[in-house]
Amino acid sequence: GQNNAPDYLKGLNPEQRLAVETTEGPVLVLAGAGTGKTRVLTTRIAHILATGKAFPSQILAVTFTNKAAREMKQRIGILIGEGNVEGMPWLGTFHSIGVKLLRRHAELAGLKSDFTILDTDDVVRLIKQIIQAEGLDDKRWPAKQFAQMIDGWKNKGLGPADIPEGDARSFANGKGRELYKAYQDRLQTLNACDFGDLLCHPIRIFRAYPDVLKEYHKRFKYILVDEYQDTNTAQYMWLRLLAQRPEGVGKSANAGGRPISPHVGEIGRSSAEARATVNICCVGDDDQSIYGWRGAEVDNILRFDKDFPGATIIRLERNYRSTAHILGAASHLIAHNEGRFGKTLFTDRDEPEDDKVHVHAAWDSEEEARAVGETIEAYQRPDKQGNRHNLNDMAILVRASFQMREFEDRFVTLGLNYRVIGGPRFYERLEIRDAMAFFRVVAQGADDLAFERIVNVPKRGLGEATIRQIHDTARALRIPMLEAAAKLAESDELKPKPRAALREVAANFERWQKALETTPHTELAETILEESGYTDMWKNDRSAEAPGRLENLKELIRSMEEYESLRSFLEHVALVMDAEQNAELDAVNIMTLHSAKGLEFETVFLPGWEEGLFPHQRALDEGGRSGLEEERRLAYVGLTRAKKNLHLWFVSNRRIHGLWQSTIPSRFLEELPEAHVDVAESGNSYGGYGNSYGGGSFASGRGGRQNPYGTSRFDTVGEEKTGSFSNTYATPGWQRAQANRTEATDRNWGSRSGH
Ligand code: ATP
Ligand code: MG
Repeated sequence: GQNNAPDYLKGLNPEQRLAVETTEGPVLVLAGAGTGKTRVLTTRIAHILATGKAFPSQILAVTFTNKAAREMKQRIGILIGEGNVEGMPWLGTFHSIGVKLLRRHAELAGLKSDFTILDTDDVVRLIKQIIQAEGLDDKRWPAKQFAQMIDGWKNKGLGPADIPEGDARSFANGKGRELYKAYQDRLQTLNACDFGDLLCHPIRIFRAYPDVLKEYHKRFKYILVDEYQDTNTAQYMWLRLLAQRPEGVGKSANAGGRPISPHVGEIGRSSAEARATVNICCVGDDDQSIYGWRGAEVDNILRFDKDFPGATIIRLERNYRSTAHILGAASHLIAHNEGRFGKTLFTDRDEPEDDKVHVHAAWDSEEEARAVGETIEAYQRPDKQGNRHNLNDMAILVRASFQMREFEDRFVTLGLNYRVIGGPRFYERLEIRDAMAFFRVVAQGADDLAFERIVNVPKRGLGEATIRQIHDTARALRIPMLEAAAKLAESDELKPKPRAALREVAANFERWQKALETTPHTELAETILEESGYTDMWKNDRSAEAPGRLENLKELIRSMEEYESLRSFLEHVALVMDAEQNAELDAVNIMTLHSAKGLEFETVFLPGWEEGLFPHQRALDEGGRSGLEEERRLAYVGLTRAKKNLHLWFVSNRRIHGLWQSTIPSRFLEELPEAHVDVAESGNSYGGYGNSYGGGSFASGRGGRQNPYGTSRFDTVGEEKTGSFSNTYATPGWQRAQANRTEATDRNWGSRSGH
């Protein structure tokens, strides 16, 4: 009974408790955001350990990030006492567990156990060499592009021999397969592997060496996976190999077991002999699958009961995280997706004083950042009881990382602590540092550090030897490196090629430095990035990050407009860079929606809800309807991060791709239910706003803009309003139909919940 249950079980609801206590056999927890899936996993591990069903080393637990793994370990310690968890060696991400496995069996993959793991840069360089060695033109067949293709294949668990004919043909006149093979051979010679190999090598080893696989079948008594909806095919194969085993493996009675089929596809079809004693528990939410663009297969979660016959499927319906308004808004929004199972969510957190979801309008992104800053400061002021809202409990979740810049700048001005999670701060990003280095040399010719950073960017064939020579000359003559370079360019101490390159560099900087007096600094900055070839470098780059880097560069130029001169801008950045990023500090969290998965905050700000940004144009262009649905799931993830306060923003003007564009509120705003949303009247939501812009005066310049997705109830700032929101808005018929669909499509999964 509940009363003699150990403490860690108390407080769980019956379904959660079932998921924790059903330790034997396959279990899937398919449930919406904030229903306690992660908590179930953590408690389940605690339960397994506390009841002595397994040692910590016999539990394999996969989380989505390393941070989540650390937190889970901590939580388990809290539940059952630190002393009972001496480490959980197999708790981590797919990659971190993959490294560990591969180090133990490296020789079976043709590697030594001290193999190195190459980063993306290394990989691209290596592939470039291979492409050139094949006598192919690496301009026509860019290494970056091929690196991406390889990554895609590895996400699907495909080796050179397995890739589809069409894929192999599409690159380098049909040499795709050969190149891939050459790449793998090269890795082996170098005693190295890439990220994809961390999964693919173990899969290959498990298939080829049943004895090794058997060893792990015996070792891992319990397997647990969080965020199962975002596993890709390779991860899924890897898990199935470990989880599906012939009857008896793991039980001492029949430990010899049957030999395992070497083909992953043949393991664990719902045939009787594969019906296993496997204790795997996966938790996830099909509505939060947001990594389709990186090869995640939401189908993995939807066919769990086929892969693991007899699985117990548990649905959790009570949300413990959010207020009724937040949950209502999120559920209503996600009901617009067609490809989903649909689920009911409810909460008991329904206090009359709870705020509705706030939707705010702003003129542009600067205004947006300012208003968010003010709202944060308002939350920070002590309330009647003298309680202050911690900054740590607030988060700003952006769709695209370039959006962070405006907030970072504003917070530095306000002296508000912030931290960027899951990536560098705006001004610390590679492309921003590069661009800043160009500007610094122009503004301050003696900035040798900056000069060194970009003298060979983009690549101009200036090797280490030349750079050392510039160094030596500079030191000998006590002049800046830029001057030394100019001198060397005119001497005959260098070979013709580097000399020509240096001459160009010197001429460029001389011209730009002159222009500093005459040209507006934003224009000059743009010119510098164009003429140096830096912008083109990223335009020609086919990697997944390149478009984001170009967006960031545009954002950088945009941000300069707010400063009088290049010099004052550089000073500003120096100050921002100096702001401390301290984990201990009470600070607002800034991150992308993608990296916010699984997290929760008291107060969440979601800026930039405009068509083209969110849903993102790229996702719409490339993914069509499924692209839109993935964007909507991302919106659902965003909304459901909030516990208590949720603020959405859209602006009327945003600079996208370097051009000011008047924007249209996101269709997702239209999809929020009136009952749970509070639309702040523009013009009075923050002081002086209406006055400074003069209602309607901007409308004429942008006239005739209409929301193509139906009559908008979100008037853009500056346009004439047609009365207040609640009077004019009624739920359109199609929206009502969508809302009802949640129940209608709710498929019965044979859930045993509640029993
Ligand atoms: P997501 O889908 O966003 O990852 P989740 O389903 O993993 O969400 P959790 O993060 O595990 O949800 O839980 C959400 C919040 O609810 C946490 O703060 C958790 O501590 C709390 N919670 C979960 N179950 C209970 C419970 N039975 N009683 C009280 N609080 C609970
Ligand atoms: Mg979770």
